[in-house]
Amino acid sequence: MTRARILGVEDLVPAGLVEPARLQEIRRVAQEFTVAVTEDMAELIDPADTSDPIAAQFVPNEAELTSAAEERADPIGDERWSPVPGIVHRYPDRVLLKPILWCPVYCRFCFRREVVGKKAAILGREALEHALGYIRRSPQIWEVIVTGGDPFLLAPRRIGEIVRALDQIPHLGVIRFHTRVPVVDPRRVGSALVEALAAEKAVYVVIHANHPRELTPKTREAMLQLSRAGIPLLSQTVLLRGVNDDAALLEALFRGLVGMRVKPYYLHHADLARGTAHFRTGIATGQRLVRSLRGRISGLCQPTYVLDIPGGYGKVPIAPCAITPGNSPGGWVIEDGAGVRHRYPPDPDSAEG
Ligand code: SF4
Repeated sequence: MTRARILGVEDLVPAGLVEPARLQEIRRVAQEFTVAVTEDMAELIDPADTSDPIAAQFVPNEAELTSAAEERADPIGDERWSPVPGIVHRYPDRVLLKPILWCPVYCRFCFRREVVGKKAAILGREALEHALGYIRRSPQIWEVIVTGGDPFLLAPRRIGEIVRALDQIPHLGVIRFHTRVPVVDPRRVGSALVEALAAEKAVYVVIHANHPRELTPKTREAMLQLSRAGIPLLSQTVLLRGVNDDAALLEALFRGLVGMRVKPYYLHHADLARGTAHFRTGIATGQRLVRSLRGRISGLCQPTYVLDIPGGYGKVPIAPCAITPGNSPGGWVIEDGAGVRHRYPPDPDSAEG
């Protein structure tokens, strides 16, 4: 397996990604939040573009040092739902398993930015066994989401051990990996990783991609290797101001993903992570974008627009509703993809009543 060179904070000026005058600023940010950019992502950045959407995602910015009052250290409440180290059990039928809290890149808007990239970020063997024990003892768990950090940073041998251990738990139906590796460090996806993911149970891979420029030929090749192995592929996108808050751009991203056999799964409203206010759009903006996508792309290309309720109360869909009660009793008004409204008859049960 070959790996991308990783640029740390001191590499950004020599690489031409940051003006020398900003070095002190980005050093101050790096003291708070970890910095890393893979060479694959660095190569996509246009240093002459001060609004480059790839740079905005990975190159630190002084704005991260300003916290808004509504921001939180643990925006989606992982800690509250963690019965044992490495497990988050927020919903009855599924858990997160976090074997590693390192990533190949550190996204400047990350919702786990207070914990990723720090020391002691790998779950030791004993702690991992304890976490697996929790899953074995909990028959209501049907799905395990292996996340982090990025679980594809683990050696394929370790990934294989986790897959085999989960595969042997009778009450589990699905093992789902969440990763940014196929996008930001695609050379890590090789036959050893693909073999490590082989299981009797359904193994899904969910990638994180935010901009159509991230869908490079190398990423396409990585996804092809996974899909050839029969692994269903999904994606998550974070809606980010100045990066992808544009209908045509989201359309290109989602079409590009589907063309790579990846079903867009979630479009996340950006979480209230500390120092990320400059990335957040309004919910009304997100709804306007999603509404306009409805008429432009097929259902296959459309993710569900979701928000994690701050404090750990779960993920909920927040797309605008296309149907509202009409003026006639029990009747409805439905808006089509072009924004034209149509009447729909009352429900049969309302007529009976
Ligand atoms: S890859 Fe995921 S966990 Fe890692 S920094 Fe980016 S958003 Fe956070």
